[in-house]
Amino acid sequence: MRVTILGTGAACPGAGEACSGFLVETDRATVLVECGTGVLNYLQKYHELTAISDIVISHMHADHFLDLIPYRYALCYGIESNNMPRPRLHLPPGGIDVLRQVTLPFSETDNFFEDAFRVSEYNPGEPLELDGLKFQFTPVYHYIPSFGITVTGSKKLSYSSDSGPCPELIEIARDAELFICNTGACLESKKDVSWGHLTPEQSGRIAREAGARHVLLTHIWSTCSRASCLERAAREFGGWVELAESCHTYEV
Ligand SMILES: [Zn+2]
Ligand SMILES: [Zn+2]
Repeated sequence: MRVTILGTGAACPGAGEACSGFLVETDRATVLVECGTGVLNYLQKYHELTAISDIVISHMHADHFLDLIPYRYALCYGIESNNMPRPRLHLPPGGIDVLRQVTLPFSETDNFFEDAFRVSEYNPGEPLELDGLKFQFTPVYHYIPSFGITVTGSKKLSYSSDSGPCPELIEIARDAELFICNTGACLESKKDVSWGHLTPEQSGRIAREAGARHVLLTHIWSTCSRASCLERAAREFGGWVELAESCHTYEV
């Protein structure tokens, strides 16, 4: 399994950066997880937009899905029609209604997203089998319903989604080869009010308790001290931990 980071920002991308998004690929699968602001900039360095088979969204905060809107315009108007099937778009429960409300003021059709994607909402209690990869969803602790994701192929990839500390995160990251951890409470002055996100220390602690082998910290404010963020997490984790960088690929 190959994981390519396509954005590392928290709710606002830094200059030249993007919000949440990463590619999960095998010889059979090409899956985009999250489609936040700016992710298309990087995604198109790797693939035509028609070549993505599946898109999986963890929760319906704008920094995790906003680039679905330009993605839809590209598929409907910006690309010559070909015989590629429309990408499948897997949303959390209630996601279809959120997208409908967001696009209602400017939608030219009742099928704004359906014209471009095969849209469905996943059942968090049932795994999704996508071209040999098993995606499983676990509710985590956030301001709105949010689902941590594990991807199992020959090894296990774990993704926290946005979450405050909770026991479910330890199970999500349990024995993962790579744990991608959204560390949204990285600004030291803000950490007391950020109960829906993890501090670097909490990220490192969860990864250690879970026995994760490698940790990538992402969903980080561009204004935080990256060196300090890394050091704070590494002190708790005690193993291989890095700050995620866009366009870096990791073998899992
Ligand atoms: Zn969020
Ligand atoms: Zn977020």
